[in-house]
Amino acid sequence: MQKVSFDEDRCKGCELCVGACPVNIIYLGENLNAMGYHPAQVHEQGKCISCGFCARMCPDVAITVWKEGAR
Ligand code: SF4
Ligand code: SF4
Repeated sequence: MQKVSFDEDRCKGCELCVGACPVNIIYLGENLNAMGYHPAQVHEQGKCISCGFCARMCPDVAITVWKEGAR
């Protein structure tokens, strides 16, 4: 089940979410988004604990987190 999603075209690649994630699963992608930034991505959804820290840190409100059973 998907727990976290990134709106890649809102992301400015600031890496605040990368540092905020306690399980270190957020990386900046190799690709460029519409604004020319490397957007944050999560590849290991299964390791996400839905803590929401990344979404709270993001100044551009690019991250959505779902809690277990609350989707
Ligand atoms: S919700 Fe928490 S565990 Fe999941 S990607 Fe964001 S910071 Fe990491
Ligand atoms: S905090 Fe937001 S804008 Fe910054 S890298 Fe993460 S998703 Fe992108």
